Amino acid sequence: MCAQSSDQTRFLLGEADLPKFWYNINADSPIPPAPVLHPQTLEPVTPDFLSVLFPMDLILQEISTERYIEIPQEVREIYRLYRPTPLMRARRLEKVLGTPAHIYYKNEGVSPAGSHKPNTAIAQAYYNKLAGTKALTTETGAGQWGSALALACNFFDLDLEVYMVRVSYDQKPYRRLMMETYGARVFPSPTDHTNYGRSLLAQDPETPGSLGIAISEAVEVAATSGGTKKYSLGSVLNHVLLHQSVIGEEALKQMDMAGEYPDVVIGCVGGGSNFAGIAFPFLRQNLVEGRTTRFVAVEPAATPSLTRGPYTFDYGDTAKMAPVVKMNTLGHAFVPPRIHAGGLRYHGMAPTLSALYDAGYIQAVAMPQLPTFEAATLFARSEGIIPAPESAHAIRTAIDEALDAKEKGEKRVILFNLSGHGNFDMAAYEAYLGGKLVNYEFSEADLQESLKSLPKVVLPA
Ligand SMILES: *Cc1c(COP(=O)(O)O)cnc(C)c1O
Repeated sequence: MCAQSSDQTRFLLGEADLPKFWYNINADSPIPPAPVLHPQTLEPVTPDFLSVLFPMDLILQEISTERYIEIPQEVREIYRLYRPTPLMRARRLEKVLGTPAHIYYKNEGVSPAGSHKPNTAIAQAYYNKLAGTKALTTETGAGQWGSALALACNFFDLDLEVYMVRVSYDQKPYRRLMMETYGARVFPSPTDHTNYGRSLLAQDPETPGSLGIAISEAVEVAATSGGTKKYSLGSVLNHVLLHQSVIGEEALKQMDMAGEYPDVVIGCVGGGSNFAGIAFPFLRQNLVEGRTTRFVAVEPAATPSLTRGPYTFDYGDTAKMAPVVKMNTLGHAFVPPRIHAGGLRYHGMAPTLSALYDAGYIQAVAMPQLPTFEAATLFARSEGIIPAPESAHAIRTAIDEALDAKEKGEKRVILFNLSGHGNFDMAAYEAYLGGKLVNYEFSEADLQESLKSLPKVVLPA
């Protein structure tokens, strides 16, 4: 570790400091998990049902209440290509804002795929390889998850089929080429490979697709493969949140190096994994050590599952093939507006995160596109890094916290997760800089319409 100096900007851990364990919030969460239900029977699922889609090690992690789970040596070896990631003090941003607050960010954009997503992709590819899986199937929206899993499957010599939301496939050729460079096969969803895709194309050959549809296709392909192909999900599930805890475990040590402790921890939320990754190890300090840090999850105003969606049972995908879980949801039939933060366009939120939000352990705000890109640009011009539009939601809220601290004359320690860089998102910046970006919201009537599709769940007493 490097010694601290008074104007230090980067807080770096050595390879030897790479965490050896992931942290599982379910060991300390005061809220017992709700059951996961079968999409047809709406009864609690058996491991048999899940094992069609996932290898047993990941299913065991999904239901584990063990506090610390060892990171396998093979996974740590690949983590070493980019971990530990830097913790940065945003001194230049602080100066521009004229704030007494100290702003820190964890830079997950330094991974080869450019985001936090390889943290779970590498682990999932590893456990699948161990179980004898030949190929993985997955969906991708903006292409971040697909490129992370393509990277990971390449390292573990697994085939990968990516069902990419059609509108992103057309708009984001560079992410698709990145996946293909790593050796994955990428298809615009809906495709004619699946019964579900064929039925949608028959209704509307020009359909833009959605993340929920692409999930349904990837699940159908794995479920009908006779066990050779498994399905991989990049967010939402407990095992994904577990793998992402490596972010917060490192950040705990790095904040210690900086000689500070965060008053507020901030992350953007799509399915909730990068936020949980940075927040849960610090939330443990609240639950177990009596700390009083605030946690703020930032979602787009266009897909406000936490701030406007009810906490209830819903399907994980549009075609009702994925399990039914209790979460904050906009309804599985919800087709989100085409905002540029493609990675945040999911109808639901991680069940663990939803439960903690419902119980008041976590706060949430919904952010429109324009102030988000204003913050992204200010960050790029002060810190040099062009953030992913998703991450810019966290930056917006970090800036708002810093300005609030300035107004109140408080020294506040702010930590946010920079979940990825935006170097492949220039079309979004082009729209912003050209004055073409608009704020999307959707009406209460549309929300109520979408919520009519919720399953009617009756749990045994
Ligand atoms: C996918 C993605 C997100 C959203 O996913 P979470 O599971 O909520 O973390 C956020 N930022 C970036 C850069 C992403 O690629």
